[in-house]
Amino acid sequence: MLEEILQKIDNEQDLNKEDLVFLLGLKRREDLEALYHRADLYRKKYAGEEVHLRGLIEFSNYCRKNCCYCGIRRDNVKARRYRMPNEEILSTVTLAEKLGYRTVVLQSGEDMYFTADRLVDLIKRIKQQSDVAITLSIGERPREEYERFFKAGADRTLIRFETSNRVLYQKLHPDSDYDERMTQLKWQKEIGFQVGSGIMIGLPGQTMEDLAGDILKFKELELDMVGVGPYICHQDTPLKGNDNGTVEMTFKVIALTRIVTRYAHIPATTALATLRQADGRERALQLGANVVMPNVTPVEYRSAYELYPAKVCIYEDAEKCHGCIHGRIFSIDRPVSKGYGHSVWPG
Ligand code: SAH
Ligand code: SF4
Repeated sequence: MLEEILQKIDNEQDLNKEDLVFLLGLKRREDLEALYHRADLYRKKYAGEEVHLRGLIEFSNYCRKNCCYCGIRRDNVKARRYRMPNEEILSTVTLAEKLGYRTVVLQSGEDMYFTADRLVDLIKRIKQQSDVAITLSIGERPREEYERFFKAGADRTLIRFETSNRVLYQKLHPDSDYDERMTQLKWQKEIGFQVGSGIMIGLPGQTMEDLAGDILKFKELELDMVGVGPYICHQDTPLKGNDNGTVEMTFKVIALTRIVTRYAHIPATTALATLRQADGRERALQLGANVVMPNVTPVEYRSAYELYPAKVCIYEDAEKCHGCIHGRIFSIDRPVSKGYGHSVWPG
């Protein structure tokens, strides 16, 4: 069966759910290497050699939602809450630009202090002062608001659907709705955004069939970016005591996401680097990924933006992260992109 599926990959034929479930179950090192090698070839062919850097600014950790896995969920009273003032967000964007990042990712909890007016103002000021693409990772908002953000100059959105198993989705999201999440993704694309989404690997109760369904969903949605990271258990959440997702399963899903979606930008995520500090990101970049998101959040806030514990890079400042990431990318002999890193989907 393995030979047959690998042949399909070599012939660039589509994989079906059964193929994906089989590949997700691979265990032998040489089988995995055969898969990863092919994912790397697809990455080279469809996404190119360059690694795109996106400077991540975690500008607020207030959140109105209570996602069961997340360390900054509303009911976690232990989280030290912060909001970066506008001026500080703007100076952080300037720093990101100075470090050569051509995209900034503005990420936060669902913080309604940042009204549409405030965000529009922020987006416009960033576009006036800096030559960067803007990705919004701020959760769900009404369509009219996203329309205003797009008009103001925002280029991309990032909103993971977390799992395509709707029963599991509802269990983990007491105050969100699976269909609403999917609908937001659809109209974000209609508005004109380059849309990113993704999932966590190893959510309690998640099966390999679910993961295969997630990968097919990435393709169906024609996502411009797909972020795949391991779930990491946070003790101050209702999911405390659960196991973390594994690095190997994350690698497999990244590789298959590359093979199935071909053109999607795929980041080597921070959560992956957290579980495998030595070379998690480098390995991911060698089996399908082509993006890294170095943190540029001012150090004083980093430890408070604790989606999951023991996150890497919380004591390093933006310059250190810049040096570290560049070193890692050079060590695997890949060039860093100087462009915005827009979507590479044809047409
Ligand atoms: N509030 C926004 C953006 C911030 S959360 C949103 O929810 O879309 C960004 C991502 O962090 C989430 O989509 C989720 O996939 C990830 N995340 C949250 N808690 C996590 C955990 N315990 N382990 C790994 N990733 C987590
Ligand atoms: Fe809020 Fe996002 Fe965390 Fe959910 S995952 S609790 S929306 S920050």
